[in-house]
Amino acid sequence: MLLTERLLFDRGADVVLACLHCLECRNAAHVVFDIFAGSFHGDACVGPCYIVQFTDQLFNYDSKMAIYEILQHPDERLSQPGRVVEEVTPEIKRIVENMFETLYAATNCAALAATQLGIPLRITVIDFSEKKDQPLCLINPEVISGEGETFTAEGCMSVANVHEKVKRYERVVVRAMDLDGEIKEYVEDGFMAKCMQHEIDHLNGVLFIDHLSALKRKIVNLRFRRG
Ligand SMILES: [Zn+2]
Repeated sequence: MLLTERLLFDRGADVVLACLHCLECRNAAHVVFDIFAGSFHGDACVGPCYIVQFTDQLFNYDSKMAIYEILQHPDERLSQPGRVVEEVTPEIKRIVENMFETLYAATNCAALAATQLGIPLRITVIDFSEKKDQPLCLINPEVISGEGETFTAEGCMSVANVHEKVKRYERVVVRAMDLDGEIKEYVEDGFMAKCMQHEIDHLNGVLFIDHLSALKRKIVNLRFRRG
């Protein structure tokens, strides 16, 4: 059984992208609905039962709804690594568009990883410019090399009200695919370098609090258990 949590589509377009979450495993399922063929394709985490439930609800959603829910620690989906994106399809572009919309709608949000939004793909969006006019999308990013060391405080949209110092490389070379499907290398330092390392961690199912000492992590986690 699937719960339709977000639907992103254009009325009149020939494809519909839906972002669903399975009620059983809570994994996201990204499904494309071809209006003309009347069928779904894409990958879903469970069997064909979703089709019937989904079609009924398809047109009852606001097409402007494009803001994803940001998962909160200790949601176990935050510990699951994202899958490699093989190709930049229109569906991927739509996901990225909505990731930026989610980023810009959130307060004090510098970057988001798809895995924080219940989308198990290796995509991150970054924009910490004052005017929010310098969007950077990295697909399948990886740290190729790093040097130097910093030890500064970090926070995370998925770990509310926690700021702790974490060791990071001071400078990194990150290789990633851009929205045109081209592989690029980014040489960064300062906040951008920190940000990229934090986001790449997310895509590997790692939170910044996972870098803390066992004792500190225990104290942080106690806070979340108490709610
Ligand atoms: Zn984060």
